[in-house]
Amino acid sequence: MKEVKLTPDLVGRVRQIYEEMEKAYDQVATLLQFSCDGCPDNCCDSYFQHHTFVEWGYLWLGFRQLPESQQEEILKRSRLYIDACEQALARNERPQVVCPLNEKGRCCLYAHRLMVCRTHGVPATMQRPDGQRLNFPGCFRCQELVKQTFAHESEAPRAERTKLLRSLAMMENELMDGKRHLYPRIQLTIAQMLVKGPPSIAVPYCERENVAD
Ligand code: SF4
Ligand code: SF4
Repeated sequence: MKEVKLTPDLVGRVRQIYEEMEKAYDQVATLLQFSCDGCPDNCCDSYFQHHTFVEWGYLWLGFRQLPESQQEEILKRSRLYIDACEQALARNERPQVVCPLNEKGRCCLYAHRLMVCRTHGVPATMQRPDGQRLNFPGCFRCQELVKQTFAHESEAPRAERTKLLRSLAMMENELMDGKRHLYPRIQLTIAQMLVKGPPSIAVPYCERENVAD
């Protein structure tokens, strides 16, 4: 296994994409006059899986900057989180467990939090490579607001994610030396990304130097 490390250029580009996502989110939130203020819920207990080595690596850049004792506490919580999710999934329930990075209601890796953490909330849309358009309605509170404000939810403004997700996919391919297709798709929660350690990959068989023709 070899660790996949983000180059300084990739780090800068991930940061830029995250900033653009936040800007797109804020624009829609402003148009809808929507905010998380006063929400009785906390999205940090929503069950999400994440799919890119790029985001995994970026998360680890932040995690490594935390004091060692805090890292250990987070890893303990991560193991408990994974157990609790497995139990819920075994009961055919969608897990609802607070993210191990949430400390007293706040994200302790805010600057390194993942894309979903930055985009969940307002309605969004994206076009898949096969041309199919996917629409995301936003969180339950935003959906209520949209219902009260618009005759039909399709009239509501949406954050456009296509370009940003394509950039992320391009970076993912760059990180894997243009061979992303040789590696399996990942589906990991934040807790799993932390417990597994920084992103690493098994070199595909066909890429190993000592493979005989
Ligand atoms: S995104 Fe929605 S559900 Fe989550 S905290 Fe904000 S208002 Fe509440
Ligand atoms: S990474 Fe931060 S913002 Fe995202 S779910 Fe965890 S605590 Fe919440």
